[in-house]
Amino acid sequence: MSESFYVTTPIYYVNDVPHIGHAYTTIAADVLARWHRLHGRDVFFLTGLDEHGQKVQRAAARAGIAPREHCDTLAPKFRALWKQLAIANDGFIRTTDARHHAVVKRLLQTLYDRQLIYRADYTGWYCTFDERFWTEKDVQEGRCPDCGRPVEQLSEHNYFFRMSRFQQQLRDHIAGHPAFIRPESRRNEVMGFLQKPLEDLSISRPKSRVSWGIELPFDHDYVTYVWFDALANYLSGLEYLPARPSVDRFWPAAVHLVGKDILTTHAVYWATILMALELPLPRTIFAHGWWTVNGEKMSKSRGNVIDPSAMVAQFGEDAFRYFLLREVPFGQDGDFSRESFVGRINGDLANGLGNLLSRTVTLIGRCRNGVVPRADSASVTALDTELRDAATSLLHTTMPRHLQTDRIKYHRTLEAIWGLVQLGNQYIDKTAPWVLAKDAANVKRLDTVLFHAAETLRFLCFAVAPFMPNTAPAMARQLGLSLDFSQALLQHPIAWGDGPPAATVAKGDSLFPRINVATRSPHGDSMEPSAASSQPASPAPASSKPGGDASSAPASGGNDRRITIGDFQKVRLKVAKIIAAERIPKSEKLLKLQVDLGDEHRQIVAGIGKQYGPEDVLGKTVVVVANLTPAKLMGVESQGMVLAAGADDVISLVTLSDDAPPGTTVK
Ligand SMILES: [Zn+2]
Repeated sequence: MSESFYVTTPIYYVNDVPHIGHAYTTIAADVLARWHRLHGRDVFFLTGLDEHGQKVQRAAARAGIAPREHCDTLAPKFRALWKQLAIANDGFIRTTDARHHAVVKRLLQTLYDRQLIYRADYTGWYCTFDERFWTEKDVQEGRCPDCGRPVEQLSEHNYFFRMSRFQQQLRDHIAGHPAFIRPESRRNEVMGFLQKPLEDLSISRPKSRVSWGIELPFDHDYVTYVWFDALANYLSGLEYLPARPSVDRFWPAAVHLVGKDILTTHAVYWATILMALELPLPRTIFAHGWWTVNGEKMSKSRGNVIDPSAMVAQFGEDAFRYFLLREVPFGQDGDFSRESFVGRINGDLANGLGNLLSRTVTLIGRCRNGVVPRADSASVTALDTELRDAATSLLHTTMPRHLQTDRIKYHRTLEAIWGLVQLGNQYIDKTAPWVLAKDAANVKRLDTVLFHAAETLRFLCFAVAPFMPNTAPAMARQLGLSLDFSQALLQHPIAWGDGPPAATVAKGDSLFPRINVATRSPHGDSMEPSAASSQPASPAPASSKPGGDASSAPASGGNDRRITIGDFQKVRLKVAKIIAAERIPKSEKLLKLQVDLGDEHRQIVAGIGKQYGPEDVLGKTVVVVANLTPAKLMGVESQGMVLAAGADDVISLVTLSDDAPPGTTVK
């Protein structure tokens, strides 16, 4: 039997609308599940819904329907979103399943029989919204420390789990298992939390207050506290969702992915419950960060909640998956903005991967009637072996290392994959196949170059497959490869040159149509994919060469092509004042400028450093291209371009008198 791999997301509270946070965790879990399936492991990926508790009960009452009916109308929204995001989960659990109830009752009875659950009076401050008690010292000015709503003092009998008894055992476990809580900063937080005495955990609610839950097997006047119920899903799901009961097969979980707000619940409550049940703890609990939107907290009242479904409808699921995992290190907080999303689509996806595929397939079509040639060993150069070595180590060394569940570095993985994309594009620029094609003496060298370009893309198919489940097969089809990415394709290492002989390429649609940022609807918010496929429809970003399709090679061609006034109007030129300037270390050419655009400040990296020092340009009024896709130069983000005269070397900045205020349109 192959090795097993069990990955979970938290079960999401059914009363929420699915938002970017839900999508983020679920996409992250999906990438791991796909990666391990590719390696032939027996994967179980579980997600689902938490459907009990007072909030559901109240919402249903307001709607005049039964709680179960209320859940039944909301659950499909989550399922539909997972389908839209190409999530390939193996199980979808709902805590209202009768079989889940049975497992929760059994676990409770076990703990009760072991005298690890007892009944006691409890007086505390209760927050209805969070459905939990707070102690006197937690509550400030009568308000919940978590949500800030007023709390009420309640006194009631309840059942308690003897969590305190496991404090030392848990501390020892965390100390002895560095991978148990990740990332490191979160592990330290939990250790800090465990410095204070751990209290026992209330695991019941009287039915007089909350009836929508799982009844305690040993007292019919109580239901189970939602957290106990919800956490138990990680075990109950294994009992009845796989084709056959699989707790032995999949437990302990390889990794629970959770948001940082519910880390304690998992690393302390769940861990001690498992200890009490004498079950092994999950190998890793990985806590990720939160998303803000344009620097602000996401909230309904601000109206800035990102609807993943709308993002996918507009930009595609693979671009969305890519952006979320590329933009921010997993474990840290991140900020979502349409500008950076569109920047990634146009830069990394369209100009990077899309362009590499498009030019390679076009060149093979044009030069070799579409049949991928074999390399001629006598004409292999260092450029070729560099590409081969980079692709091989990416797939078989770098990716496995970054995707280990105790590190999970999605952004580094994608950075490494896109390093190969860039190398591939540079390879085509340097080898210039369109030049080789002009001379019959170069026939073998041309074969070798085209083979290496195609082979790089074949490796990239495997690399992007876990992240972009629809892009990988689309690439494979264009490369003439028949690959089923749900199979264990990486169970054995992929070797350079072991693809099918004489694959025939088939040019298809561009993988990622560029998003035309210049097109704004009257409502001011629309960024439409441009109609032109792989051809840049708006100015190419300052840092990356458009690459050029084989048809337009060499890339400098086409300078004399006429444009319409409409083309020119796509370029938004604006007056800007340089308010800060500094040199970029290790670059004699680049200056990092901060410019005032009237209603906003921008950072622009300008290649004017040979001619100007920072002190020369400070305070100058210049003209900038304001709607350029952001790009990185020497690792520094540039959000525009400063106009200057000079073909190769800069001769003079285009400057204006101070009469024109920053932000003024130049036309
Ligand atoms: Zn609260």
